[in-house]
Amino acid sequence: MIIDVSWLIKNETEQIIKTEEVDGFKVYDDVKALTPIKLFSQASFKHGLLNIDLDIAYTLEFICCRCLKVFTKEQKLKFKEEYTIGQIQQTFEDNIINSEEIAKELIILNASIKNLCKEDCLGLCAVCGKDKNENKCDCEDYESNPYFDKLKILLCEKDKEV
Ligand SMILES: [Zn+2]
Ligand SMILES: [Zn+2]
Repeated sequence: MIIDVSWLIKNETEQIIKTEEVDGFKVYDDVKALTPIKLFSQASFKHGLLNIDLDIAYTLEFICCRCLKVFTKEQKLKFKEEYTIGQIQQTFEDNIINSEEIAKELIILNASIKNLCKEDCLGLCAVCGKDKNENKCDCEDYESNPYFDKLKILLCEKDKEV
């Protein structure tokens, strides 16, 4: 939703409220926000302060970076901020706020997590490629090198650290 702050300042008793569905998008190469993203926006201006309230509900689809399985996770985010007139001018160009853009930025920020299906995911066997969460393979004798295992995890998770 586009929020025209100048209009709100002129019509101080009014409130802008809207619920809408926004298209999903690619967050990272291996993380997607699925369609639709549900966005509830509320904006009001009172006593010299602009209040913005956003509720965002969405589903992320991602690939576990250890076992490569595709997972979805439902997420909810809240955004609540208060701005003075000066802050509005510094933060938003032409007194226009695009709540959809704010929601997308928040989703990206919030996706800065490890892409693991579970914290202790065992990943794939380095020898036979089987999912070690599901079945024990015959490669038990294979001595994995903890240093390289760690390196592999760091490599697949490093891009998410902001
Ligand atoms: Zn996994
Ligand atoms: Zn194996």
